[in-house]
Amino acid sequence: MVLRIKLATEHPARKLPSVDRILQDAQATKLINTYGRTALTAVVRILLKNWRDNISDLNSDPPTHSILLKKAADYLTGHNYGLRPLINLTGTVIHTNLGRAALPDAAIKAMLIVAANPTDLEFDLDTGQRGDRDSHIESLITEITGAEAATVVNNNAAAVMLVLNTLAFGRQVPVSRGELVEIGGSFRVPEIMSRSGCKLVEVGSTNRTHSKDFKQAINADTALLMKVHTSNYQIQGFTKGVSDKALAKLANEHNIPLMTDLGSGTLVDLRRYNLPYEPTVQEAVENGAHIITFSGDKLLGGPQAGLIVGNRSLVDKIKANPMKRALRVDKMTLAALCEVLKLYRDPDQLSENLPTLRVLSRNNPDIEAMADRLLPAFRQQLTGHDYAVSKVQLKSQIGSGSLPLDLLASWGLCISAGRGKGSDQKLRTLADAFRGLPIPVLGRIHSGRLYLDLRTVFDPGEICEQLGHLKL
Ligand SMILES: *Cc1c(COP(=O)(O)O)cnc(C)c1O
Repeated sequence: MVLRIKLATEHPARKLPSVDRILQDAQATKLINTYGRTALTAVVRILLKNWRDNISDLNSDPPTHSILLKKAADYLTGHNYGLRPLINLTGTVIHTNLGRAALPDAAIKAMLIVAANPTDLEFDLDTGQRGDRDSHIESLITEITGAEAATVVNNNAAAVMLVLNTLAFGRQVPVSRGELVEIGGSFRVPEIMSRSGCKLVEVGSTNRTHSKDFKQAINADTALLMKVHTSNYQIQGFTKGVSDKALAKLANEHNIPLMTDLGSGTLVDLRRYNLPYEPTVQEAVENGAHIITFSGDKLLGGPQAGLIVGNRSLVDKIKANPMKRALRVDKMTLAALCEVLKLYRDPDQLSENLPTLRVLSRNNPDIEAMADRLLPAFRQQLTGHDYAVSKVQLKSQIGSGSLPLDLLASWGLCISAGRGKGSDQKLRTLADAFRGLPIPVLGRIHSGRLYLDLRTVFDPGEICEQLGHLKL
């Protein structure tokens, strides 16, 4: 008891200045004007609590107003909330962790306009009645894909969930064992199926699945057949899958739908741009799939979205599912997606107009020229710091699980930090410094070297400006 009283009266925390008093300081006024009173109050409280929690010397003096406010200023400037743009030299073009596709100007302009204004998002200007948000985009999607009907949700994972939940709730869905994919850790076909309320029926084996395997699995409780495009891996050797056409035929015979999750899904034959083949949405429609889902921000090159196309009656059911409301897209996504889709009306110009395709289809000499231009700038900046920079041939990845085995020949810079002890640390220090730039520059460390793939760089000035800020 005695000890407690002693602590209560003599504990240095008692001497701490009050938050109110600190906020009255002239120095605080400046911070309040920049960051707001709420933010400064919260930070000062945290700093005082930290000090209280960490005092070991009961006789230590509490921090002065000036010290506390200096610390608060450091904290507030260092905690830049919000997303920051960066320069992606990792060699992975459609990088999920880096926000996937960069949008074309037309899409960005459209987003700005709807962001700043009320729009006819769910309002029919002809009748003055409530409208449908899909109406702005459905005919464009069906025109391009050849499907009867279409709707759009938050992303492809949402699209798959919504389709399964609508068409197969409480019922069975046969899927080939070779197609039970995991994408990016959080999307696994078996888990999405159970969360969507349907029962996965595994058919066939990992490497071989036959039409008869599906046939045997079909019974009165089967809701639909599902095909998943295994975009992020390949099974090679003694393999067999069931073609879309054969599955569609089987589905039709049993009067159930065939759903195809295309994953990336592209709307043009990529071979046209000297890129590897990826099944198109149009082919899936032609092959008879009744419902097809794909991402808006993978190879399509648009904003994050999940597109669902297929038979009118099925799409109408999907749109009527109350979960559609929970998974719907906002006006900015719709505006951007609409502009991106319009670019597909002119495939000859697509590789110029759509940034994703422009980067993916960029010709090799052009990338090499960029490496030649930037090599001297990097050498100059790193000179005297014991780093060696050279121009190297690289292989870029499309990314987002698309065509993982098809690498694209590219050029870039390779930075090494000498050999022997400490060189790895030295390389990491450099990678940290690049990430610490005002516009962070991200490369890829591999086998003791830092690689910067220049496929994504069109303006060397932007990189040079960042190099000027490099602190080693
Ligand atoms: C990428 C992918 C998904 C998930 O799409 P998101 O747009 O990331 O939600 C689902 N299925 C397949 C086959 C995929 O490749």
